[in-house]
Amino acid sequence: MIAVVHHPDYVAEAPARSTYRWNKNGLIRDLLLAEGAAIDWHEPLPMSARWIEEAHDPAYVAEVLECRVPAAKIRRIGFPVTRAVAARAAVVPGGTYLAAQLALERGYAANTAGGSHHALADTGAGFCVFNDLAIAALRLVGEGTLNRVAIVDCDVHQGDGSAALTAGHPGIATYSIHAEKNFPARKARSTLDVPLPDATRDVAYLETLERTLAPFLDTHRPELILYQAGVDPFMDDRLGRLALSLEGLTARERLVARLAIDRGIPLASTVGGGYGDDALAIAKRHVGAILTLGRCFADARALRLGVTA
Ligand SMILES: [Zn+2]
Repeated sequence: MIAVVHHPDYVAEAPARSTYRWNKNGLIRDLLLAEGAAIDWHEPLPMSARWIEEAHDPAYVAEVLECRVPAAKIRRIGFPVTRAVAARAAVVPGGTYLAAQLALERGYAANTAGGSHHALADTGAGFCVFNDLAIAALRLVGEGTLNRVAIVDCDVHQGDGSAALTAGHPGIATYSIHAEKNFPARKARSTLDVPLPDATRDVAYLETLERTLAPFLDTHRPELILYQAGVDPFMDDRLGRLALSLEGLTARERLVARLAIDRGIPLASTVGGGYGDDALAIAKRHVGAILTLGRCFADARALRLGVTA
């Protein structure tokens, strides 16, 4: 069974004039529900303001939770912060944190939202309000659950917020493989950045991912990977540029899982980016990532226990 974290508040009602695909998380839930007994569901609590403030300025946290985010920040985020959006922003980091705890017990768990890697200390950006990856990492280390966490980001956009919010933290290392000529225009500095040219395609992408991620994990020896599994490197994605095929995306999840499993590192995945007019097709790609990762960890566990799956 694959441990999956979901909360009804993830499926926020779309604010007026929003171009963001708000039904993506509901479709992901529905597709996973169709998997029946293969999925073991868990509901997170909202992250408390105290832990959100480990990553974000208290003034910005209050602006979001009290639904009074200034217009300039709303423009950077890309949608208005309504009551529903604020509730969602607080519960998604709780989900990534719960997925991390479940992964520590079982090897792998998925959050059906999250990967909000562009959110910065004093503002959201690029459809991200609070940075669930940074918040979960800072909490896991801050409360003493773990000594070392890695944020591994395979979204087509750089994980600039995660890098900025955890920069200099001795227990947190960040890895980002992304299209160089893409949002954000001004990149942050991750522990390891792997910028790629447009139209890199499957073979070169997978070769580069393995050649850079394996030594990154060996150097930083994380006790947990928080994985941003954005599917926007896909060839037909509206914001993607790396021209990966569906098979390439699946091979990416298998590779990330193998690198983690070979080193005995648990992994919690978040959804990340995926853009276009066909929300169902996008949700299928996200669910494909969750199921592939889940099966890789289940197979490895069965092998270890001497059980034939
Ligand atoms: Zn993205």
